[in-house]
Amino acid sequence: MRLPLFNVVKSAFCTCLPKYNINPYLGRCSHGCVYCYAVKFPSFRGPVKPRLNLKEKVREAVARTKVKLPVMLSDCTDPYQPLEEKYEITRECLKVLAENGFPLLIVTKSDLVTRDIDLFKRTPTVVSMSITTLREEISSLIEPNAPSPERRFKALEKIAKEKIPTVLRIDPIIPTVNSDLEELEKLVSAASRIGVKQVTASTMKPVRGFFKRFKERVDRETYRRVLEAYSDGLWIAGYKYLPVEKRASLLRRLRSITLNYGLEFATCREGIQNLNTNICDGTAYCRNILNHYVVHNKE
Ligand code: SF4
Repeated sequence: MRLPLFNVVKSAFCTCLPKYNINPYLGRCSHGCVYCYAVKFPSFRGPVKPRLNLKEKVREAVARTKVKLPVMLSDCTDPYQPLEEKYEITRECLKVLAENGFPLLIVTKSDLVTRDIDLFKRTPTVVSMSITTLREEISSLIEPNAPSPERRFKALEKIAKEKIPTVLRIDPIIPTVNSDLEELEKLVSAASRIGVKQVTASTMKPVRGFFKRFKERVDRETYRRVLEAYSDGLWIAGYKYLPVEKRASLLRRLRSITLNYGLEFATCREGIQNLNTNICDGTAYCRNILNHYVVHNKE
């Protein structure tokens, strides 16, 4: 077995460049975000399952993997969910990858990520932290078991101070829940203050079953507003998309706010041209060969 390639779902407008992807944990991620798309996949339902012998599998795989593309941890469960403190599966895998010179793309909502700063200094690494709001009361509603926005920001600041490239993922934006532009500007402004390089944003794309879960989690008025926002949406590749003009209008305004703070901007799976000033997953910060992309897309 070689390192598994990340599944670029072109039909869902994914613009990621080739990379590998590893999920150190299976089952339902314990952060329990109401909008999590991973519940779409059977492997990511049910209790969290630590992949206890993953380190050995990764060691075998890197020996057979010649092309040193970046390795993302992770797309379907958080690599730093609470069980990681006990099992250290993510850390052991990162050690093997860093020893073998693979660049790393970390995507997380957890401040446990700062534990591995020493490994991020051994190989080109980009850390993306998902922070969808600064408002604790909203975060605890839509991401009930994830660390608070404040703890996430503190972790991002610590990593940025170590000169490790960081990306703020405002992913997803849920219409009428965390879509207020003033609130989004506070997020971007806070990110620019701590040295974040880029904002990558997306609008929520519910999977089947989302609205049932959402109804159980929020008050009637919030539920009604979000349901209405998606009433004229369309299903694409198993995800419900807001109409393109609604998405473009919100993301264009967030883009100009972000550029005003001197940060790069990108969108995730939106399929709207000329919004991105850089590559969505932060790859440009650990793959120098791609700099020419940045120059041509700032107009
Ligand atoms: S942190 Fe990511 S993987 Fe975990 S529940 Fe939230 S959206 Fe899903």
